[in-house]
Amino acid sequence: MIYELSYWERESFLNNIDIVVVGSGLVGLCAAIRAKERFPNQRIVVLERGGMPLGASTRNAGFACFGSMTELIDDLQHTPAETVWNVVERRWKGLQQLRKITGDKAIHYFQHGGFELFTDAENTLFEDCLDHLTEFNRIAKSITGHPEVYKNANDQLPKFGFKGVRNLLINQAEGQIHTGQMMNALLRKAREIGVEILNGISIQQLEDTTHGIVLYTTAGWSIQAAQAIICANGFARQLLPQLEVWPSRNQVMITQPIPGLKVEGCFHYDRGYIYFRNIDGRILLGGARNLDFEGEQTDQFEANTTIRQALTNFLHEVICPNQNVQIDSWWTGIMGLGPIKKPIVERISPHVIAAVRLSGMGVAIGAGVGTEGADLL
Ligand SMILES: Cc1cc2nc3c(=O)[nH]c(=O)nc-3n(C[C@H](O)[C@H](O)[C@H](O)COP(=O)(O)OP(=O)(O)OC[C@H]3O[C@@H](n4cnc5c(N)ncnc54)[C@H](O)[C@@H]3O)c2cc1C
Repeated sequence: MIYELSYWERESFLNNIDIVVVGSGLVGLCAAIRAKERFPNQRIVVLERGGMPLGASTRNAGFACFGSMTELIDDLQHTPAETVWNVVERRWKGLQQLRKITGDKAIHYFQHGGFELFTDAENTLFEDCLDHLTEFNRIAKSITGHPEVYKNANDQLPKFGFKGVRNLLINQAEGQIHTGQMMNALLRKAREIGVEILNGISIQQLEDTTHGIVLYTTAGWSIQAAQAIICANGFARQLLPQLEVWPSRNQVMITQPIPGLKVEGCFHYDRGYIYFRNIDGRILLGGARNLDFEGEQTDQFEANTTIRQALTNFLHEVICPNQNVQIDSWWTGIMGLGPIKKPIVERISPHVIAAVRLSGMGVAIGAGVGTEGADLL
């Protein structure tokens, strides 16, 4: 919608802005909070196109995960070990930072562990994981301080009642959060310390000038600021086309409450492409984008019926066999991926910083990425 700004809007809401943050996801809010801590007297405004944040941060699964064994073994095939473990460390530190900013109670943080499921057909992969246990635990201990992060969890398998699952591994230091409460806590904190958040403002173009940054909105008017941090993750390329980041959609479902639900913790299957967890006596299940990589490489929030059917089958056949479990609702979210699982946190031009490309692990690494972005100001 195109409209003109009133004098009041221009003079009261949008004048004398020092720092603009584009995007009110987890990264944008943590960047704004850090910027306000560093520059308490500056005017810091977060611009968000949605009525609520509209990307991944209010739509994810809430796994406080920092590395499951199959994912790491897979990453180590094509990425140097130092880079892989460095990302694990950044995720771990990011999680501690998030917990420090909000407090565990506010985000409903629980450390029930993160499990990996292996079917009969994946026995070799499971054996491969067991071969890596000692080495991975040595490195993971140096990062987390936990004496035994990864462990064979086959003794716990019977209690979950899965069908067709032969082996189970656990990451004992993995936790889970309530995604909605995390975002509420961050929004509250940002406002409390004087960050301004304006919703319904969509930026379509940036112009870096000698005096600062001009942000052109889709409403036909522009905003000026001394500096900008772009935290638009999967949508960043619309503003910064030179960045190697592209959108990737995920389908997610939540069931109706399940009486006597035994599933507790975060669960990863098929190298993490499928994930599920307990929340409020329900199961949240999502992913399977590997069934249609091309179709899911989009920033449109639409349903993918093939993937939804596969996830529905997985729910009824593997997670809750022989139970009459009802699906409550579905949604989609958009991640930002790139050629490697490493965020981009850098100054792009004199007055513009990017903090994007969270690669599907933003709950863990997001607070750190936002903070690092603001530290470049
Ligand atoms: C379904 C799903 C499940 C996930 N599960 C997990 C998980 O369990 N654990 C985990 O660690 N990670 C998970 N992730 C990833 C994690 O949610 C993201 O990495 C993280 O939320 C990214 O945060 P962000 O702030 O960078 O991006 P976003 O949350 O996407 O925020 C970007 C914001 O920028 C706004 N924006 C974009 N363009 C513009 C513009 N031009 N003008 C104004 N505003 C704009 C958007 O509306 C959006 O609110 C999941 C992601 C998805 C999609």
